[in-house]
Amino acid sequence: MDTSVRNVVILGSGCSGLTAAIYAARANLKPLVLEGHEPGGQLSITTLVENFPGFPDGIQGPELIENMKKQAARFGTDYQMGHLVSADFTKRPFILNLGSSQILTRTLIISSGASARWLGLPGEQALIGHGVSSCATCDGFFFSGKDITVIGGGDSAMEEALFLTRFASKVTIIHRRDLFRASKIMLERARQHPKIEFLTDTVVDDVLDVQKKEVTGLRLRNLKTGAQWDFPTSAMFLGIGHEPNAKWAAGQLDTDPDGYLLTKNYVFTRVPGVFASGDVQDRRYRQAISAAGTGCMAAMEAEKFLEEEGR
Ligand code: NAP
Repeated sequence: MDTSVRNVVILGSGCSGLTAAIYAARANLKPLVLEGHEPGGQLSITTLVENFPGFPDGIQGPELIENMKKQAARFGTDYQMGHLVSADFTKRPFILNLGSSQILTRTLIISSGASARWLGLPGEQALIGHGVSSCATCDGFFFSGKDITVIGGGDSAMEEALFLTRFASKVTIIHRRDLFRASKIMLERARQHPKIEFLTDTVVDDVLDVQKKEVTGLRLRNLKTGAQWDFPTSAMFLGIGHEPNAKWAAGQLDTDPDGYLLTKNYVFTRVPGVFASGDVQDRRYRQAISAAGTGCMAAMEAEKFLEEEGR
């Protein structure tokens, strides 16, 4: 076990965690960023980001993340791959259990974000990687010239569908209602696109065909008529939102019924010295810029906390 005690450990290397790292590193706290199973977070699997201030022509998500990572490294941030299994907040310093190793830290910033949600159908789970995906930018290329389906009615679904038109012969967006959460601009872009079609009031009952080990179609049901039918498609991309990555914190930190960490005054959890920022505690805005904003706040509060302790 490494017995040295870190000043600040930041859980997560997305936009929020890396902003916290830039601030903590510039405060000379030598933060450690723990990169989990989705390094770089959601920006690293997106395409053009057009609403992050400072980039009049937009910037590719992975490039934005890489820039933040370099910026934080320049001021002395350390990076380590690792998955937090549990944490002990009853003792000081806090003990972070990574399975085969432990880290001791005086403060913790939880910026572990949120991961893509799945429908939870048996066929879906069996066909992940064989035509079922939650990442259009990762897997879209494999379906060049094919008909593709996107599930969801929010901005993620619109963004995935628009991106997939680069490869697909046709993209069908399937949504369970006829009202959309997507912003007007994104919805309109999708509606105007000649390759995109919509199926509303429709849900997926199963993904076909597990026997063939590839997606050949979806069993669909119209919620208004009850009619069920098989819809041929080569791939199903999920764009139905995200789950906060904070299961390990259950019981130790306050969460809402969906598992989002509850914070007071933006970034304070109920444990002094433990802060939360970004999508893991924000179910309302969930934007790169707001995640960066709370990352900055968390780092400044961690710095203040250490200062008040005489560090
Ligand atoms: P979201 O806004 O929560 O939308 C999720 C969509 O999936 C909803 O239409 C929801 O349907 C549907 N859905 C959820 N669970 C489902 C299920 N089990 N079966 C079928 N459909 C289901 O999530 P999001 O699209 O990921 O967006 C999250 C946030 O990120 C938003 O604030 C969004 O603006 C932002 N975002 C922005 C951009 C951009 O600006 N470029 C891109 C992506 C995301 P109901 O509507 O019926 O609940």
